[in-house]
Amino acid sequence: MSHSSSNRASRQLAERLAAFEGRPAVVGGVGKDPVNEPMIRHWCEALGDAGPAYTGPHAVAPAAMLQVWTMGGLSGHSGRSAAYEELLALLDGAGCTSVVATDCEQEYLRPLRPGDRVAFDSVVESVVGPKATKLGTGYFVTTRMDVRVDGEPVGTHRFRILKYAPSRATEPPEQPSTRPRPVVNRDNAGFWAGVERHQLLIQRCLGCRTLRFPWLPGCNACGGGDWDTVEACGDGTVFSYVVLHHPPFPAFDPPYAVGLIELAEGVRIVSNVVGVPYDKVRIGMPVRLEFVRYEEGQSELPVFRGESVGEAGGV
Ligand code: ZN
Repeated sequence: MSHSSSNRASRQLAERLAAFEGRPAVVGGVGKDPVNEPMIRHWCEALGDAGPAYTGPHAVAPAAMLQVWTMGGLSGHSGRSAAYEELLALLDGAGCTSVVATDCEQEYLRPLRPGDRVAFDSVVESVVGPKATKLGTGYFVTTRMDVRVDGEPVGTHRFRILKYAPSRATEPPEQPSTRPRPVVNRDNAGFWAGVERHQLLIQRCLGCRTLRFPWLPGCNACGGGDWDTVEACGDGTVFSYVVLHHPPFPAFDPPYAVGLIELAEGVRIVSNVVGVPYDKVRIGMPVRLEFVRYEEGQSELPVFRGESVGEAGGV
């Protein structure tokens, strides 16, 4: 294709995509369940939100649950418009076969209460692109869902997806890639600083002395935010383990054993079990902490060396 004809094709695509703006994406959608206390309770438990507004005779649903009441669940959506299907097919045809949700924005007009039955319509608000992204070049499709109860608007939910043509950069590189680096943040920086000094540090609550691992900003036992650390002595046992066969991960060499190690201090840590063939790792196996640098330029990692418990008849 010459340069000018490819430009023309992309202009034509842009025009066809723009024509979808304002067209319905969902018509006459109805929530599968009314707003209800069990779903509110599960949500609040999952998020650890003990807000008093969400229980009792005058309970309201957390505002951010707005989308929950409109979701199709495993049995799928109903009411998706032909226009929306056409839009997705057009993007597929243009090579934008991958999709990723990018963000959502919600507005709340009034609280929802148990018993409310939501209805909703959704329109294609905008189709923007082509945009070059790290994932590949594609189009941002924003839909706006208007949610109502008995005809009264209760909120809007804007949802944006990127439909894109996967770039070659997202294909597995041919060279074995480096291992993923640990995510170091302000809550666990002290742990990684300890690892650098060959110390495995466990947090200890200054309020109730409870040990905790992995590192967290607060104590699960008493809620206290003050802590110091104790250094693990390095002895542990395999509390549980899995052997990873699949999927293969670049820079890792399956099969290998991932252990849940119970430290002598009583807390547990997920780590590699080394020094023992993957199929000889056993629950209860004693292990000993050591530090290994797997790749140049990466931090050392705590791992646990096991000793095969001799098979029956072993020497
Ligand atoms: Zn505590």
